[in-house]
Amino acid sequence: MNYADIKKVDIQDGTGVRVSIYVSGCHFHCKGCHNKEAWDFNYGKKFDESTINYILELMDRDYIAGLSILGGEPLEPVNQQGLVPLVQKVKEKFPNKTIWCYTGYDFDKDVLGKMYKEFSYTKELISNIDIMVDGEFVEEKKLADLKFRGSTNQRKIDVKASIKMGKTIQLQFGDESRYEETDETKNPKIIFFKEFKEKEENEETSKDTSVTAKVIESNDKETPSNPAYEIRKPEIAVAAKGIEIKRDENL
Ligand code: SF4
Repeated sequence: MNYADIKKVDIQDGTGVRVSIYVSGCHFHCKGCHNKEAWDFNYGKKFDESTINYILELMDRDYIAGLSILGGEPLEPVNQQGLVPLVQKVKEKFPNKTIWCYTGYDFDKDVLGKMYKEFSYTKELISNIDIMVDGEFVEEKKLADLKFRGSTNQRKIDVKASIKMGKTIQLQFGDESRYEETDETKNPKIIFFKEFKEKEENEETSKDTSVTAKVIESNDKETPSNPAYEIRKPEIAVAAKGIEIKRDENL
């Protein structure tokens, strides 16, 4: 196994201050991936015992909450086998520090449904991982302020609880629950508009929270069509929750 990078301090890929390793090799090739160079299994440096010792040394600080494993794809079979001795030693030395793992695979279907049953190394690897962030990165579902994940389809999974309960247990951190996938976000109300402008009100009501949009089309029966629809600003602010408001540049 090769690895692309090791970060001594990472505050984005899991709770607290963490050490991160980016392994090399990934077949998913997601559109918009930020680590394209790590798609190549031969990219970067060789991962060996000295790499494990270096990571253990970096983690031996009180302020380090745990290790995050990213890629590339940590669950490519060759990478899983390479990572087993790392996670075993990390848990042996730091039983109270957490291990997060980011994968493009689906936790239920691929990880538990296939790999966990078929490969002894998957079982060993997974038994040492606390939280898995699963699913391919989907550029169309990317939102800037998501916590510990890149796109809304990705889930943060409590691995141990999921195995114990026999079903996927998802975790939420911070207030990003507003972006969780629901029927509403899967089938958002879509409003196409030509232009919209602030509602003209007198001085006193200038802070009115509505704008007027010339609606061209909508998949929502309740939205009146032309000539105008009042979109409340809060609706725009929560567009990620299930309302897509699109400007039709051709009109
Ligand atoms: S799974 Fe991760 S590393 Fe692989 S292509 Fe997708 S975003 Fe990039």
